[in-house]
Amino acid sequence: MPPADARITRLITELRRSGVTEPSVLAVLERMPRDLFVAPPFAHQAWENTALPIACSQTISQPLVVGMMTQELQVGERMKVLEIGTGSGYQTAVLAKLARRVYTIERHRPLLKAAEERFKTLGLHNVTTRVGDGTLGWPEQAPFDRIMVTAAAHDVPPALVAQLKIGGILVLPVGDEAGQDLIRVTRTEEGLDIRSFLPVRFVPLVEGTAEG
Ligand code: SAH
Repeated sequence: MPPADARITRLITELRRSGVTEPSVLAVLERMPRDLFVAPPFAHQAWENTALPIACSQTISQPLVVGMMTQELQVGERMKVLEIGTGSGYQTAVLAKLARRVYTIERHRPLLKAAEERFKTLGLHNVTTRVGDGTLGWPEQAPFDRIMVTAAAHDVPPALVAQLKIGGILVLPVGDEAGQDLIRVTRTEEGLDIRSFLPVRFVPLVEGTAEG
């Protein structure tokens, strides 16, 4: 197997060719140690452009999908971002490098605990976590400049739109088992501006926490 540096360079080149062109996003992906976020048996595949299994029957997203979603979110360094579906914490960590603060919600406590350890290891001090049902958002911290959902919803959750600033952007996969698309929703004075940008396959957004 080629050394990690060569594998990282190859992955970044592939992402650039596939549409991730924003330099700040590519720079963060290049430096974020994805091997820290995958389960040990899969560490050798950390720099492949593929989704991988994590605990609680969930997955860490494909790097291309993380890159495209992050790029579409257009995160600025003064922004307050809400993320639903912490999972491994990889996407959270990427957002934390670009935003002022990231609030992230996960319904499986063991996943959140493991992600929190990774944020500590990486010295990321601008992430606030919560076990809960992300479909309800985080009303106490609203409004947000940006919101990202990394599990597939049937429709745009109304509570999340309500917690988005005017001019704010929400990126999420919508659809069902048959097919999903990533969409970018911009909240305007008049309503919502919706654009679809990539067909994807995500685990479903499930209401409630995993603790009953
Ligand atoms: N961004 C993650 C992807 C994790 S998969 C990563 O890069 O690793 C999606 C995650 O969303 C799963 O961990 C799942 O448990 C979580 N999830 C699904 N529905 C949820 C909900 N209603 N509230 C919070 N988290 C949810």
